Amino acid sequence: TPALKIRGLEKRYDNGVKALKGIDLTVQTGEFYALLGPNGAGKSTTIGVIASLVKKTAGKVEVFGHDIDVDFNAAKRCLGLVPQEFNFSQFETVMQIVVNQAGFYGVPREKAVQRAEELLKPLQLWEKRNEPSRQLSGGMKRRLMIARAMMHEPKLLILDEPTAGVDIELRRSMWGFLRELNRQGTTIVLTTHYLEEAEMLCRHIGIINHGEIIEDTSMKSLLARM
Ligand code: ADP
Ligand code: ADP
Repeated sequence: TPALKIRGLEKRYDNGVKALKGIDLTVQTGEFYALLGPNGAGKSTTIGVIASLVKKTAGKVEVFGHDIDVDFNAAKRCLGLVPQEFNFSQFETVMQIVVNQAGFYGVPREKAVQRAEELLKPLQLWEKRNEPSRQLSGGMKRRLMIARAMMHEPKLLILDEPTAGVDIELRRSMWGFLRELNRQGTTIVLTTHYLEEAEMLCRHIGIINHGEIIEDTSMKSLLARM
């Protein structure tokens, strides 16, 4: 089974905007997939639908074979989401944020603390574990979002523009971390509007524009044609 299978996905917002016009997309297990497109193309909407944050108008989404309409909880367990905006409490500490997240997924506390250490150390957040999130730099907050999304060991990690507004040094270290996660078996899908980022990281690329997939190919064959 593919990690992600999307068929005929349509989204029309209440104001009449047709954000997605019938998207088909398959991401194989183990893949590192970039969804590339300009602002307004429909990337965030696609991710929102997969994570059941946005209600779709039509179509079908399966995460590791679990239809999100039929088997939402099973799909959710397979999925880690790194949204674009910071959305954690300013007052909770780094440790509280990640351990609470694990709690939502039923991970026992002891296991969660162990998992937190495994994630916070390589993300260079371990030293900051007892600090409230408001004291973190922007880059640290971004890394915290990745740690939080990985706490329940999802098989598929989806990141919405993970390095937007991030300086080049931090971008490189985030790329290294994501590569390593992928090497260890996590399927990764990220959205970006930088071809360079897609090129550096991803083996497969889908190009989205005006709510349609206009290209879906291996990075190698795309680059060969450029
Ligand atoms: P991207 O992530 O590629 O920048 P989005 O999925 O955010 O694209 O947006 C796709 C289209 O849907 C755009 O035209 C955008 O203005 C519109 N859109 C996004 N969110 C909403 C919303 N909540 N209500 C109405 N229109 C929206
Ligand atoms: P991004 O895609 O960069 O994450 P957002 O998802 O916040 O940005 O919004 C994407 C686009 O959708 C923006 O152009 C924004 O103006 C538009 N948008 C967001 N919410 C609404 C809404 N409720 N109604 C109309 N347009 C919206």
